[in-house]
Amino acid sequence: MSRKKPFKPMARFTDCFPEISGNAVNGLGESEPRRPSRFFWHPPDRQTHARLQKEVTDYHRRSPAVREYFRPDPPGGRGPKAVPQAPGKNSKPAAEWTSIVKEFALANESDLVGITAVKPEYVYEGYEINEPWVITIGVAMDYDELAQAPPSFENPTAAVVVAKEYNRAARACRKLTNFILSQGYYAKAYQGPYATALNMIPAAIASGFGELGKHGSIINRQFGSAFRLSAVTTDLPLLSDSPDVFGADDFCMRCRACSNACPPGAIFDEKQMVRGEVKWYVDFDKCIPYFGEALGCALCLPRCPWSRPGNPEKLLRQIRRRANKPGD
Ligand code: SF4
Ligand code: SF4
Repeated sequence: MSRKKPFKPMARFTDCFPEISGNAVNGLGESEPRRPSRFFWHPPDRQTHARLQKEVTDYHRRSPAVREYFRPDPPGGRGPKAVPQAPGKNSKPAAEWTSIVKEFALANESDLVGITAVKPEYVYEGYEINEPWVITIGVAMDYDELAQAPPSFENPTAAVVVAKEYNRAARACRKLTNFILSQGYYAKAYQGPYATALNMIPAAIASGFGELGKHGSIINRQFGSAFRLSAVTTDLPLLSDSPDVFGADDFCMRCRACSNACPPGAIFDEKQMVRGEVKWYVDFDKCIPYFGEALGCALCLPRCPWSRPGNPEKLLRQIRRRANKPGD
């Protein structure tokens, strides 16, 4: 571990913690599978940490640059309002619709697009999703801007790029939603940072976006962890993608770049049991006071070697060499 000074959280955030640990809400240590609980980023009346969320977001909005991009009408906008569903379905085979929606998404502000069937574990408790498919969208963040994390009031660049790309991801999913509605099928857009029914990370992993990293975010073979998600659920006939397992999980076993960099030491170096699954996990109670103070932090994303432009190709070659080494 690094020998950095221990992080001392600000009382303004620690005073807002409820009795229940965020890790308990998330199911840390629970061996039975269950759906995720509504949590931070959910509407205040539907979660346990609403007071903390308000304190964090109010604090972030003290930065004029951050406030500008978290407005309801930020520069570039959040995308069109939903159009009515057209009467009568435009009928095509699922393979054809799959190509059409992917081409549409990539031509309309998305950098990544994948499809998977909706599963109960992607849906937060207290919500329902009745559509059979989820189309996940990824939008890349500029690495040089993200690499200025952690943001501060003096240099909010990394917070602004996160907010800016949340807005692009919102536009991308809303445009795709409207395209599907115009074809006579149902579609619903999901955009961050505020959450509703859909837990996007497991859906994106099943859609082929990559593997879960030690820092709790996805590692993609092209963008590393320098991207944001949005999604569309729909009854349009589609074909599913497969998960993309390229060795990132195994790489995390040998790497500590994110856990060493994390100022409050929130990133576990060993996988944890969470709702019946052993996986990488970030300690919410440790992360969030720093996240609050550092305008959204995000330091673990650029510190991941997969996020550096040009580096994934090199790491993939290393992984292939290691796999071909006799006796390894
Ligand atoms: S966002 Fe910051 S505090 Fe939270 S896990 Fe990442 S580096 Fe640590
Ligand atoms: S920094 Fe290293 S350990 Fe952390 S997610 Fe990236 S590859 Fe995995």
